[in-house]
This record gives sequence, C-alpha cells and structure tokens, in this order.
Amino acid sequence: MNDCIFCRIIAGEIPAKKITESEDILVIQDIAPKAPTHYLIIPKKHMRDIAHLEDADQALAGKILLTARDLARSLSGSQAFRLVANTGRDVGQSVFHTHFHFLSGKKMDDF
Ligand code: 5GP
Ligand code: ZN
Repeated sequence: MNDCIFCRIIAGEIPAKKITESEDILVIQDIAPKAPTHYLIIPKKHMRDIAHLEDADQALAGKILLTARDLARSLSGSQAFRLVANTGRDVGQSVFHTHFHFLSGKKMDDF
C-alpha cells in the first residue's frame, strides 16, 4: 500500500497534523481545509471506500461515528458539524482510502 497517501500518513512516512488517534482510527487536519474546522477521520485499515466495507467492519464503522461525536464535543464554539464520505470518483473522491470529512465552523446551507 506504499502508493496510498493515507497509509503513508498512518505509517508516519508523510507528516500530518494529528488531532487524535486510537488503535484503529487516525484523525488529521485536512491539508486544504474547506471550513474553519476540517478534519479527516481515517480508519487505519486500508479500504478503498465505504463500498468496500465488509460485514466484519461493523464495529469499526460504529467507532467512526463515535469519533465524530467526540470531535464535536471538543469544539469550542458551535458543535454543529457535517460528516461527508465521498465514495467514488464521480462524486469527488480523490484519495482512495476510506475517510470521512468532519466539517464545522461555518454556515453550510448548500448540500
Ligand atoms: P476526497 O476528495 O477523497 O473526498 O478527500 C481527500 C481529502 O484529502 C481532500 O480534502 C484533501 O485536501 C486531503 N488530502 C490530500 N492529500 C493530503 C495530505 O497529504 N495530507 C492531508 N492532511 N490531507 C490531504
Ligand atoms: Zn491506504
């Protein structure tokens, strides 16, 4: 998986601003933030996208949501947030290692 940028960040080969980390999830600052708070919630296990989740990943999928909950609780202002997982090139996925954008800190009325 040496050609996967997120696997390389997880392995410490490429620097990233780490927000928090657990045994199976890494949260980093997005390098090109689209909101005042823009984190990436990245499962450490390489999976191309949500479409490639396996039934055995049920607990991991739940932990991603609980991570989002905890990130919201750690915000200093409004705890409103948006969670986005682009799944497939046609909807804008550019890094093919499952990740969730955690966005907060600005009004978002578009969808
Ligand atoms: P996608 O387009 O796949 O939904 O999201 C990929 C995200 O990864 C983009 O928001 C992009 O800014 C971010 N990104 C790409 N390369 C890097 C990197 O090397 N470091 C960090 N921190 N974020 C990255
Ligand atoms: Zn990967």
